[in-house]
Amino acid sequence: MDFDIVVLGAEGGLEDGNLSAYFIRPTTSDKGVLCDAGTILHGLKKATKAGAFDKRALTSKTLSPEGEILHDRITAYLVSHAHLDHIAGLVAVSPDDAPKPILALPSVNAVLAEHVFNWQIWPNMGDRGPTPRLGLYHYQDLEPGKAVSLPQTPLQVQAYPLNHGGVESTAFLLTSGSDALLYLGDTGPDTPQHSDNLHHLWQAIAPLVQQKRLHAILMECSYDNSQPTSRLYGHLTPHWVQEELEDLQTIAGTSLQGLPVIITHVKPTLKHQDDPVGHIFGELNATNTTGVHFIMARQSLHLRL
Ligand SMILES: [Zn+2]
Repeated sequence: MDFDIVVLGAEGGLEDGNLSAYFIRPTTSDKGVLCDAGTILHGLKKATKAGAFDKRALTSKTLSPEGEILHDRITAYLVSHAHLDHIAGLVAVSPDDAPKPILALPSVNAVLAEHVFNWQIWPNMGDRGPTPRLGLYHYQDLEPGKAVSLPQTPLQVQAYPLNHGGVESTAFLLTSGSDALLYLGDTGPDTPQHSDNLHHLWQAIAPLVQQKRLHAILMECSYDNSQPTSRLYGHLTPHWVQEELEDLQTIAGTSLQGLPVIITHVKPTLKHQDDPVGHIFGELNATNTTGVHFIMARQSLHLRL
């Protein structure tokens, strides 16, 4: 069994219609989850237009294709952290969304309930926080490392804490039967952050690498190598992506050769003729000591891995 991934939004800032959101489902199911929710409706429109969703399977007499995907195919939100570039799309669609759970670490759900869906920033669409609670979204706290079933899909999820410059972020390990896929929210590297979150994550998933059950990793690389380590703001560069993948390879004790690594969250620039995605892709491949297969995320990209 493979995983079907549709990128609704890929970038790490600036462009309000193209922020982190990844629809992921097992190919055995039409339904799946959204990992982060920076851009939803605009991303669904673009992806539908680009043919990333099979229109013949969208049969609603009342809802548009995007509406049907939003209501019937996206069965849960996995929010890595509550920074706006990861939740703006969720807030925007919430008045017309269908009821569904938001699964996140307790600290992330607490921020959403206290600081976002609180009647001041936005009506309280959730089932926690200031009353009245409209209850469209059910906050479900994830306990690190503990597998939880996702509604209406064969998927299970396990959350692992990440350190995003002092803010708690999350990696989500999705499994369906014996198959696995790993999505990382924003994170800085362990060494300069004096953290061991990534090291612990690699330890947790190493057996899946050894058993060839891990289909892909989605991880961020916000900046190119010219960004000084003192100014990472809890993000990765190609150098640090390499360091972290080498740590995983060492722990797993087996080559990562050919493992698809989808690079997310590249920060766009406002400069003329700058192509950070192409530049970072070049830097990643120039020092690709583990031999992984780098794929740059872009809006509407549709992958089966
Ligand atoms: Zn971000």
